[in-house]
Amino acid sequence: MKITVKAKELEIAEKVDVLVVGGGPAGIGAAVSAARAGSSVLLLERRAFLGGNITASYVETCNWFLHGTKFSAHGLYSEIEKDYRARYGRSHDIRENAPHRFSSEYLKIFLDELMIKEKVKVLLYSFVNDVVVEGDHIQGAIIQTKQGPMAVAASVIIDATGDGDVAFAAGVPFKQGRDKDGYCQPGTLNFRIAGLDARALTEGGDKLKEIAKQFTQDYLAGKTGLDCKRKDLPFGRLTSAGIISYINYPCSYMIDPTSNVDLTKGEIECRGYIKQFYGYMKDHFPGFEKIEIASIAPEIGFRDSRRIQGKYTLTHEDIEGSKTFDDVICIFPRMYDMLSPDGFMGGDGSLESGGNHGHIYVHIKEDDTRSFGVPYRCLVPERIDNLLVAGRCISTTHVAESSIRAIYACMLTGQAAGVAASLSVKANVMPEQVDITNVQGTLKTMGVL
Ligand SMILES: Cc1cc2nc3c(=O)[nH]c(=O)nc-3n(C[C@H](O)[C@H](O)[C@H](O)COP(=O)(O)OP(=O)(O)OC[C@H]3O[C@@H](n4cnc5c(N)ncnc54)[C@H](O)[C@@H]3O)c2cc1C
Repeated sequence: MKITVKAKELEIAEKVDVLVVGGGPAGIGAAVSAARAGSSVLLLERRAFLGGNITASYVETCNWFLHGTKFSAHGLYSEIEKDYRARYGRSHDIRENAPHRFSSEYLKIFLDELMIKEKVKVLLYSFVNDVVVEGDHIQGAIIQTKQGPMAVAASVIIDATGDGDVAFAAGVPFKQGRDKDGYCQPGTLNFRIAGLDARALTEGGDKLKEIAKQFTQDYLAGKTGLDCKRKDLPFGRLTSAGIISYINYPCSYMIDPTSNVDLTKGEIECRGYIKQFYGYMKDHFPGFEKIEIASIAPEIGFRDSRRIQGKYTLTHEDIEGSKTFDDVICIFPRMYDMLSPDGFMGGDGSLESGGNHGHIYVHIKEDDTRSFGVPYRCLVPERIDNLLVAGRCISTTHVAESSIRAIYACMLTGQAAGVAASLSVKANVMPEQVDITNVQGTLKTMGVL
C-alpha cells in the first residue's frame, strides 16, 4: 500500500550565507567559525538546547582521550574550555586527577551566551528531514515545526547532525556500521545518581576508579548476573552534594541509530538496565547505600551512525601511517575507541580485530606523539555542490571513525567546514573549489594546529 504526499509551496522564511544543521560539537565549531569568518549564519537544532551528545547524553568528559598525554586541545575547543572554567570552575567535581569536565547544565547556558556573542542566529526545535534539490544544488532545507514545514535557504549548508540527515535527504551515498553486517557501536543511555557518600568515595584516593575496576573483573568472571552486556563502567563528576553526574553503562546493541523503531526499543531496553543496575549498585558498591536515580539523559546517545561518502575516505591505514595531506584541515592524536558493535565482550581491544571481535581500545600512551591529518575532502560530499559535512558523519571507514568521533576532533572538523563555507561564499565558488591554503591560513589564525 502506498500514499502520495502532496507538494506544498513554502515561503522562504530565512536566507543566510551559511546554514548549519545540528548544534553539537561539530555544529558549534562550524557556526562560530563561519560567523567569525564574516558570514551570516543560522544554526538549526532539533532539541531544546545546544551541545549534542555533551548535553543530551551527559558526555561531559569531552577531552578524556587526551587526559594524561602529551596532547592538549587547540582552537575553539580550548577557548570554550578556558572561558567555561573561568565562569564555572571544575563544575563541582571533587575527583582528583580527573580531566576537565563540563556540567552539561551549565554548558547549555554557556553555549546560548556564546552564540549571542558570536552573532550566530539559533533556532531550536528545528528538525530538518528534507531538502529541495535542483540538479546538484540544495535550494532550501525544510524544518519540521509545530506550525508545519518551514523553508530556509543558504548559499552553503553544513550537515553537523551526527547522522548525516541533510546529506541523506539530498541523496548523498553513505555507509553505516561495520562492513560485515552494518552494526554501529551500541547506543548508551547515560544517567545520574544522587545520595552518595562523597567523602567516603574520595578519602585516601579515588574509590570510584576501584569500584569500576572491580566491576569489570566481576563481570568477566560471570559474577554480576546483570542483563546488560556492558563490561566497563566509566563514572563522571562526583560532587560534594553526593551526585555522580554521568554513569556510562546501559547499552543497547545492534540497533540502528536512524530508525525510530530501533530507537524506541533501545530507550526502553536501557531504562530496564538502569532499574536493574540501580539495585546492583546499592547492594554492591560501598558508599552507594542511599542512592537514588537523579535523572536519565534526555536521549540515548550514539558514537557512530551514517558516514557520508566524500571525495576522500579516511582509513585507519592513513592514521597508522600518520599520512599527511596537502588539504589537511586539522590534526588529531592517534587513538581508537570502538565499543563492540554486537555486544561480544571478549577480545583484547586491539586494532587488528577491525571491530569484528569485541571492543577496539587503543589509547594514547603517556609519551605517544603520533598524530594524523584529516583532509578537507572528507568534508566534501559526493553529488551535492553546496553541502559540507562535519563531525562524526564525515567520510571515513568505520574503524577510522572510532578515532575522529572524539568531541574535540568533531569540533575541529566543524571549524574547518565553517571557514571553508564562509570563504567559498565570499569567493563566489562552490566549497569544493575553495582556496584550501586560504582555509588553512584562516584556521591557523583561529588557533587550529
Ligand atoms: C555514551 C557516549 C560516550 C561518549 N564518550 C566520549 C568521550 O568520552 N569523549 C569523546 O570525545 N567523545 C565521546 N563520545 C562521542 C561523542 O559524543 C560524539 O562522537 C560527538 O558528540 C559527535 O559530535 P557531532 O557534533 O558530530 O554529533 P552530536 O554530538 O550527535 O550532535 C549532533 C547534533 O545535531 C542535532 N541533530 C541531529 N539531527 C538533526 C536534524 N535532522 N535536524 C536538526 N538537528 C539535528 C542533534 O540534536 C545534536 O544536537 C561518546 C558518545 C556517547 C554516546
